[in-house]
Formats: sequence, C-alpha cells, structure tokens
Amino acid sequence: MQTPADLIVILGTGGTIAGTAPTASDGVGYAAAQLRVEDLLAAVPALAGRRLEAQQVAQLDSKDMDFATWQRLAGAVQAQLARPEVGGVVITHGTDTLEETAYFLHRVLAPAKPVVLTAAMRPATALAPDGPQNLFDAVQLAGTPGARGVLVALAGRVHDAVQVRKAHSYRVDAFESADGALVARVEEGAVRRLGAWPDGEALGLARIARAAAAWPRVEIVLNHAGADGRVVRALVAAGVDGIVAAGTGNGTLSQALEGALREAQAAGVRVLRSTRCDAGPVIPLPGQLPAAGALSAVKARVALILALLAEA
Ligand code: ASP
Repeated sequence: MQTPADLIVILGTGGTIAGTAPTASDGVGYAAAQLRVEDLLAAVPALAGRRLEAQQVAQLDSKDMDFATWQRLAGAVQAQLARPEVGGVVITHGTDTLEETAYFLHRVLAPAKPVVLTAAMRPATALAPDGPQNLFDAVQLAGTPGARGVLVALAGRVHDAVQVRKAHSYRVDAFESADGALVARVEEGAVRRLGAWPDGEALGLARIARAAAAWPRVEIVLNHAGADGRVVRALVAAGVDGIVAAGTGNGTLSQALEGALREAQAAGVRVLRSTRCDAGPVIPLPGQLPAAGALSAVKARVALILALLAEA
C-alpha cells in the first residue's frame, strides 16, 4: 500500500516569529529566537487536524545567519524530503536574511517537493502577531498537491527564491518579488496559483560539504558618489576570494572603483557585478566585468560562493 505523503515537517531556525518582548505593545524592542517551533505550532489551533512534525534546527536571529547553519539546514531539509510520507517542509526563519537562505536552498536542493520559508515582522507576543497566520499559510502551501521548489510565504503572498527581497524594514508585508511576478497567493487557507512553480538544477549537498570555516570569502562593495576603490584594495590585501560590486543602475561603476576591481580580478579575485537598484537585471555589455543578471547583490554573493566551492 502506498504511504500518503501528507506529513508536513516544520523546521525551526529562530527569527522574530519566535521572538518575545516584555510588553505586547513593543514591536521593536524584543528578542528574536526565544520560542521553540513546537510553541509556534501551539499558537495555531487551526493546524490541529494536520499531520505535522517539528524539529528545531537552529535558534538564532537571522541577522547572524552563518554557513554552518546553512549546511545543517540544507541537510535537514534533504533528509525530510527523502521520507516518502513527507509532502513538504516549512522553515520558520528571521526576515533579515530569509532571501539569502531561500536562494541558497534553491540552488543547492532545487526540491521536487515544496520547501516553504516563512517568518514574521512582529514578535509572537505582539498585540496582533503576524506569525501564526504566516505559519498557517505556509503549511497550507507545503501541503498543496503538485507544489514544488523553494517558496516564501508571507502576508498572503508567495514568492520564488530568486525574486524575493525584504523591501521594508517594518511593515507586515515587508517582502516583494523584484519583478512583480508572484508564484501564488494564500487566501483563507486556499492557494491560488499565479505563476509556475520554480524549477532549477540542484547542485547537491556534496557542493557544500567543505567545513564552513573554509568556505570562500566573498564581500560586497557599493558604487556611490566618491567611490574611490580603496575598499577593494583593502579587501584584496585581506585575502578575499571574491567581490560582488553592487553598481549603480545597470551595474555601472565609478572609474576608480572599476579600476580597482579590474586590478582585483587580475590578482585572481573573482568579481561579479550586480546593481544597488531594488529591482531589474544587470544587462551585460561587451568588455565589462561579469554581470550577475537579475540577482540582487546578496544573492549574487551566494551564487559566487557556490561557484567558488566547486573550485579547489
Ligand atoms: N532580526 C530578525 C531576524 O531576522 C528580524 C525578523 O525576523 O523579522 O531574525
């Protein structure tokens, strides 16, 4: 008899969704990553009838996300997805680096089942916390037949891992899809699909097996008025392996910054050009430094780290 794949596994990593404040009216002076994932589920009675399992993979404020946690998380997700009875995985996460984790998992796992990241902008103790609704929506999405790929569910909207960005520092609907193309909406527990489920080619866990402390060091620099390239020379002197330049507009760079980046490239540092604009790709032009396409600077950094991990 075939096992029904209706079990949803919730992996907790911390964040504001698991945060607590001394008073209910305090929306900023709280501590993230205080409650366990079982506590978050207990706050959503509407999930009582579902087959759920919970596992605490990490407990941190996602501003402190690190490579070792990414390794552990990717391994945990893969292990759960390999169980035939698991229909999907939900990850509770902080909002600050959620888009980086989503893109990392997308590139490493490109899962054939749904892996849904969710979060909250208000702590669990807020007068009107957003976490319980987001968690409910994420479970609905993870249990949707035919859904697949790394997805981000927040404030009723479903984003893919490539487009999603935290676009507001405070609002409950803080996330946007950079090109405006939502994958779906979750409305009263029902998933209304708007676009294709994301596909990709999985790099696999072997790509990220190297000890976290030995991962390539890739830093981000910004073009701005007066950018003179000194920061790039300092980074090269410090031994970086790669630099992502968040250029202006179509990835443009001041003459001095471009000169320093070309020196870095000649010294063996990998350079990738992104844009500091909130949306839109960098369109490559002949003779220019390599472009990161539609990836934001933080995701271009993840892409460069993953590329460098394939090299000795
Ligand atoms: N600093 C928190 C975190 O990223 C913010 C949040 O979750 O909204 O963990």
